[in-house]
Amino acid sequence: MPIYEYKCSVCGEITGILVHGYDPPGDSACGACGSTDVKRIISNVNYHHSGSDRLSSYDPRSRHSESFLKDTRNIGLHAEYMLKKSGVKPTDEFKSKLENLRTDPSSVIKKSSD
Ligand SMILES: [Zn+2]
Repeated sequence: MPIYEYKCSVCGEITGILVHGYDPPGDSACGACGSTDVKRIISNVNYHHSGSDRLSSYDPRSRHSESFLKDTRNIGLHAEYMLKKSGVKPTDEFKSKLENLRTDPSSVIKKSSD
């Protein structure tokens, strides 16, 4: 479940939009000024990261160990970090999907591929 980021051509703010499945959202607008003159920027969402402790100690620039990457509790940590950083409150749907990903990744992956 990627987060698409848009940079506003008017004020320069970056707005993150959580996308369900892999279709880019049709309409997007700047979260700061509301302008629809936004350009998508590519960000690498790292799914392998969780919990508020994990979130607060998470450093997106650090190189993660293999055990960190294999720990399903870390799934979505980067997405949470990015949401928090951009001031976006995760929706309940996002949180429940994240929970599913962390507890049973295969079920979520199956669902999003059909
Ligand atoms: Zn703007």
